Amino acid sequence: MNVLVINCGSSSLKYQVINSESEEVLAKGLCERIGIDGRLVYQPKDGEKEITEAPMPTHTEAVRMVLDALVNPDTGIFQSLDEIEAVGHRLVHGGEKFAASVLINEEVITAVEECSDLAPLHNPANLIGVRACQEVLKDVPMAGVFDTAFHQTMPKEAYLYGIPYEYYEKYKARKYGFHGTSHSYVSKRAAEFLGKPYDSLKTIVCHLGNGSSICAVKNGKSVDTSMGLSPLEGLIMGTRSGDIDPSAIEFLAKKENLSLEEMLNVLNKESGVYGISGLSSDFRDLDQAVSEGNARAKTAREMFCYRAAKYIGSYAAAMNGVDVICFTAGVGENDGKVREMICSYLGYLGLALDSEANKKRGEETVLSTPDSKVTVLLAPTNEELAICRETVALLK
Ligand code: AMP
Repeated sequence: MNVLVINCGSSSLKYQVINSESEEVLAKGLCERIGIDGRLVYQPKDGEKEITEAPMPTHTEAVRMVLDALVNPDTGIFQSLDEIEAVGHRLVHGGEKFAASVLINEEVITAVEECSDLAPLHNPANLIGVRACQEVLKDVPMAGVFDTAFHQTMPKEAYLYGIPYEYYEKYKARKYGFHGTSHSYVSKRAAEFLGKPYDSLKTIVCHLGNGSSICAVKNGKSVDTSMGLSPLEGLIMGTRSGDIDPSAIEFLAKKENLSLEEMLNVLNKESGVYGISGLSSDFRDLDQAVSEGNARAKTAREMFCYRAAKYIGSYAAAMNGVDVICFTAGVGENDGKVREMICSYLGYLGLALDSEANKKRGEETVLSTPDSKVTVLLAPTNEELAICRETVALLK
C-alpha cells in the first residue's frame, strides 16, 4: 500500500510517500512559507531534489502542488493519484480523548478541535492539513497518529501536577507528553534489536533533537515522560527552557516589562542552549564553538547533559531499574560527545560506555561494553515510518 504521510505546521507541510510492503520512501519533501509566498521541495527516490518557488496562499494549494509533483510525467513516482491508497497525518495533541491512532472522520476532527486549547499552535495547523487533503484526495482513507497517545498509559502519580485537583477535573490540566510516536517506535525497535521481549523490558528513550524529551517505558508502556501539558516542560532544548520555577517567570516578566504571552515566547523560542550560549540552537555550532574555547557554549552543553542525566536517574528510580537506554533524534543519533557526557553521570547504574562504539553516527549500534549492566543503544528514530505502519494497521 502507498501511504502519504503528512506533518502539517502553521506555514509548512512535510511529506513522505512510503510503500508499506517494502517500507521504502518513494518520495519526500516539504512545502515552506505557505501563506507568505511558497516553496516546494520534492525529492523522488532515484532522482534529483527539485525546488520550485510558487504561490501557496493556503495549505490546499500546497497539497495540490505536492500531488502534482507526485504525478509529474517526467519526475513523478505515480501515473495517477489513485495510486495513493491512504494518508497518515501526524496530529500533535489528542488530550485524554485519544490513547491510540484513529481513522479520521468528522467526529474525530471535532474531538481534535476540542483539544486545540491545549495545543493552540499545533492542532489547528494539523487540521488544516487534514482538510486540505480531504478537499483534494476526496475518498482516500486517512488516519491520525497523535504525539500524545503513547503516554496515555502514564499513572496518575506521574501525570498529575501538584496543583488544585479541580484544575484537572475542570480543564484537564496535566502532563500529556509528546514525541510519543518516536518513543514508541524506538523502544519497540530496541527490544527487537536486542532480541528481548518488549513487555518485560525497562527502557529509557532519550529523544534529543531540536525539541527533546525523555521517556520511561516499562513493559512496553510509557510510565513517565519529561514534556508536560505542552512541549515546554522537561529538558533544556534547542530554544526551549525546559523546567523552570514559575516564580522566575513572574519575576522576569516584571523586570523586563513583558506580558505572560511574551514571556512564554522567550521561554519557547529564545531560551535553551540557544539562549544560554547566545550563539545557536544547533549542537554542531555549539560543538565547534566549544572546540574554539567558547565558555558559554560549553556551559550550555554541560547544562543540557546534566539535565538529561537527572531525568534518566529519576526514571531509573520510577521503574526500579533500567535495562536499556536509547539515544535517538538529531543530537542523540549524531553527537557522541553529548552521549558520552550524559553517560558519564550514570556509572552508579553499572553503565559502561564503549568509547570506540560511541564514535558511530546514525546507525543502530550497541554503545555499551559487554559487561555494562545497562545496554546503551544508538537507535535512529523514524516517525514517518511509524505513522505509515499505524495507518496501514488501522485499515486492515
Ligand atoms: P531533530 O530535531 O531530530 O531534527 O534534530 C535536529 C538537531 O540535531 C539539530 O539542531 C542539531 O543540533 C542536531 N544535529 C544534527 N546533526 C548533528 C551532528 N552531526 N552533530 C551534532 N548535532 C547534530
